[in-house]
Amino acid sequence: MIDLHCHSTFSDGSDTPGRLARLGEAAGLSALALTDHDTVDGLEEFLSAQPEVTTRLLPGVEISCAYLGRSLHVLGLLVEPEDPRFRARLAGLRGRRDHRNQAMVARLNHLGIPIRMEQVVAHAHSSVVSRVHFSLALTELGAASSPEEAFRRWIGDSGPAYVPREELEPAEAAAWIREAGGVPVVAHPGRFAGRNFRWDESMRDLRNLGMAGFEARYGDYGPAEERYFLELADRLGMIACGGSDYHGTHKAGLRLGAGRGNLRVPDSVLTEIERARRVYPDEAR
Ligand code: AMP
Ligand code: MN
Ligand code: MN
Ligand code: MN
Repeated sequence: MIDLHCHSTFSDGSDTPGRLARLGEAAGLSALALTDHDTVDGLEEFLSAQPEVTTRLLPGVEISCAYLGRSLHVLGLLVEPEDPRFRARLAGLRGRRDHRNQAMVARLNHLGIPIRMEQVVAHAHSSVVSRVHFSLALTELGAASSPEEAFRRWIGDSGPAYVPREELEPAEAAAWIREAGGVPVVAHPGRFAGRNFRWDESMRDLRNLGMAGFEARYGDYGPAEERYFLELADRLGMIACGGSDYHGTHKAGLRLGAGRGNLRVPDSVLTEIERARRVYPDEAR
């Protein structure tokens, strides 16, 4: 069993990369990928746990894209962590994120909440400052009774203080990931849109834009959703990727490797990802 999606303190998770590696081992995983938002900075610590941890530790990243007017997340699995061009591109994304964060502080101030950027940054452990850190700061300030309520009341996707980031095109994200030696897969399509969406058409489109697969298995999916996306992957000949999206205490109820309890990602998925890494996308079809 493997898990190809989780977050550390280098983005919006609550566990350090080293601890994640040990948790992967404790969960009995044969492989675990760290996929922090917009950064590969946690990978050095993560991968260096390898001699002690027998779980295969794999590099990854998660990038947000704009697709059909909404946010679509893309995982870059097996990217080369030291690739300088890729690192510079990710630094650019973090700059856009900072810009958005400033706008969110201004919006909150306008709504009567005297929050300062330093209070948000105090909850972050790296240069990735996310809405998770806003939710912690808002709770601390008493503007919400819990981080969950902070999302519901202020900063969730339809909240009054939410400001979207300027995001990449999916083709651009896929090209960046390929150029860094990785494999682009669509993260949690079920969170982008449910089963009633025209997925056959859109996922074919995303494949044409460079995606090798998508998360047909996911920490938060129910059985019917998983069945639907597994069939879609089969029909389109795309990789049925999967992971928990574990964030530690910042996303309650999710366990590494197991999600809400029923997640099972077979080792064969990693074999397919490794094969896709060697094959140039145009040859794969
Ligand atoms: P950002 O990348 O700064 O826009 O923040 C997005 C992150 O916030 C996601 O990766 C989740 O970890 C978290 N998040 C977004 N919406 C919610 C929500 N409604 N409840 C809890 N966490 C959320
Ligand atoms: Mn997150
Ligand atoms: Mn995501
Ligand atoms: Mn994620």
